[in-house]
Amino acid sequence: MFKNIKLKRSVYATEEHELLQKTTQHFIEKEIAPYHAQWEEDSMVSREVWLKAGETGLLCLDVPEQYGGAGLDFSFCALITEEILKAGYSGPGFFLHSDIVAPYIVDYGTEEQKKKWLPKMCTGEVITAIGMTEPSCGSDLQALKTTAEDRGDHYLVNGQKTFITNGYMSDLAIIAARTIVDGEFIGISLFLIEADRAGFSKGKPFKKVGMKAQDTCELFFDNVEIPKDNLLGEIGKGFVYMMQKLGRERLSVALMAVGGAEGALENTIVYTTSREAFKQPVAAFQNTQFKLAELATQLQIHQTFVDRCVELYCNKELSAETASMAKYSCTDMHQHVVDECVQLHGGYGYMWEYYIARAYADNRVARIYAGTNEIMKLLISRGLLREMHEANKRAAKK
Ligand SMILES: Cc1cc2nc3c(=O)[nH]c(=O)nc-3n(C[C@H](O)[C@H](O)[C@H](O)COP(=O)(O)OP(=O)(O)OC[C@H]3O[C@@H](n4cnc5c(N)ncnc54)[C@H](O)[C@@H]3O)c2cc1C
Repeated sequence: MFKNIKLKRSVYATEEHELLQKTTQHFIEKEIAPYHAQWEEDSMVSREVWLKAGETGLLCLDVPEQYGGAGLDFSFCALITEEILKAGYSGPGFFLHSDIVAPYIVDYGTEEQKKKWLPKMCTGEVITAIGMTEPSCGSDLQALKTTAEDRGDHYLVNGQKTFITNGYMSDLAIIAARTIVDGEFIGISLFLIEADRAGFSKGKPFKKVGMKAQDTCELFFDNVEIPKDNLLGEIGKGFVYMMQKLGRERLSVALMAVGGAEGALENTIVYTTSREAFKQPVAAFQNTQFKLAELATQLQIHQTFVDRCVELYCNKELSAETASMAKYSCTDMHQHVVDECVQLHGGYGYMWEYYIARAYADNRVARIYAGTNEIMKLLISRGLLREMHEANKRAAKK
């Protein structure tokens, strides 16, 4: 839709992108849409959809080929994320697995860890999660309490994580923990923890306001012994790794927002042209037309920005501040678009069977997770002040 007024998106311009878009749309229609309502009841998707996504080649697209991936660039992952959200299906947590967890293993994993986990992540045989947040801290990750104590030939992990996406279904989780060596705290490290380790248990999936088909739960670690080989990257570097990788996570959330806003707008155009009031389509009212024009413009501005961010990311040039701008601004825009679209649907916009009602509930969390939008603004302003401070220092030296 909007072929005539939409700017051509250069990040998705190749034939390969077009093919992937068709494959993803077909997959959504055949493997997600018929089951999503049931998954909402179950508070989780099926294992089969993960295996089918792997078989279709929709998982971990930018993992190198030698580890079972397609070796493509991030723009292909971005396209899948947008398509799934545009279609309005928030259940499958593919993006967290492919776009957040896999890059940690690709970039910081040992050869052995990569060979062990990545091929099965690409096929969907292994589902992954990442646990940073704890009941007492989310925004302030440095305050996390889970510990990993060096016990000579293994680490002993104790603590708790909460709000973990894919948590209930996960076979493997990356866990951030305060690392204790010889009784001293030496920094936060990341650990690969298999779900079947003794002492590792999971809470039931939470009943959430939206994204009801996505399993989000608590993870508990009660004297979990993990081999030294399960340390991911260097000891004590976990906080630095998280800061390095959060940019990509935030960009993915921005992509979900532009995909979701496009879906909301498309659905609303269809609805307002078919629904009548006062013997004319709702779309014939000037208020509706102005609203749709404003929302389409907002969407296009954000799509253009996010496309630039994808290009920057692919060239390894996306700064943490720019990723934060994309995350906060696109999710704010998405929420505004969806809210206006609910209004244009009238009472039907409040009924769960309608795309727009589900989108309204699903999208609210985007301003909260992956770092709240307030934290995004904090990071952006810190960047601005740091640059000013550095410029002043340079000027003072002259
Ligand atoms: C559905 C869902 C899925 C999630 N998935 C995952 C996951 O897979 N893995 C994971 O680790 N986490 C996950 N999270 C957790 C999420 O990232 C955190 O909820 C988020 O970072 C906020 O942390 P918090 O909930 O502890 O809020 P708090 O940190 O308690 O924040 C509460 C409020 O205070 C504000 N605030 C905090 N600090 C400041 C400050 N310095 N300046 C101004 N305002 C501030 C916040 O913006 C917010 O409005 C998920 C959360 C949800 C809801």
